[in-house]
Amino acid sequence: DSFAESGLPSDVLECCKTFDKPSPIQSHSWPFLLDGRDFIGIAATGSGKTLAFGIPAIMHVLSKRMGKNVKRANPLCLVLSPTRELAQQISDVLCDSGKPCGVRSVCIYGGASKGPQISSLKSGVEVVIGTPGRLKDLMEMGVCLLKEVSFVVLDEADRMLDMGFEPEVRSILSQTCSVRQMVMFSATWPPAVHQLAQEFMDPSPVKV
Ligand code: AMP
Repeated sequence: DSFAESGLPSDVLECCKTFDKPSPIQSHSWPFLLDGRDFIGIAATGSGKTLAFGIPAIMHVLSKRMGKNVKRANPLCLVLSPTRELAQQISDVLCDSGKPCGVRSVCIYGGASKGPQISSLKSGVEVVIGTPGRLKDLMEMGVCLLKEVSFVVLDEADRMLDMGFEPEVRSILSQTCSVRQMVMFSATWPPAVHQLAQEFMDPSPVKV
């Protein structure tokens, strides 16, 4: 229930230095996520869920990459978000929290030109945060290859399915690495979200 107890390195916890202690969703998710378990979090915005999955995502990159200055051809982590606004919010948090350890990320969303997003992807990023439509577009263009993505987050999964992104989400997930850790956050737990979890997650994910 304290940052010290989490055992996380100080450069990874730099982004938390203004906070007193981990929020409940953080202290309940970090031990499982750092242990490589699949995880379902039923949590609303404002609970600190972004860092609940964001810090384990950064730790995943640190454990997989060859070194701070080794440029990667393909990303290791993917965060899917239903809207551009949420994607940008997550991206701001991950960009800040990843900076002290040199973790590079890009935000991919529709309604903006593809050029800068493609350049970022080509510059070698470790984390991709994106909305399903634009991400699928860039995958079809061959500029975003997910085969090395072994840490996947579906944020606001219920909203993503409500907005009709189920086909894109399925197609995106099926192109990530088959050996992967999956994290799902949702405010509610309707049958469609349950079904998606059953298909793409371990048979017994941790549910908090
Ligand atoms: P989120 O639910 O991720 O959108 O976070 C909601 C707000 O809580 C953001 O402004 C975060 O900066 C803040 N926050 C995240 N973790 C903590 C924490 N451990 N203690 C206090 N505030 C936090």
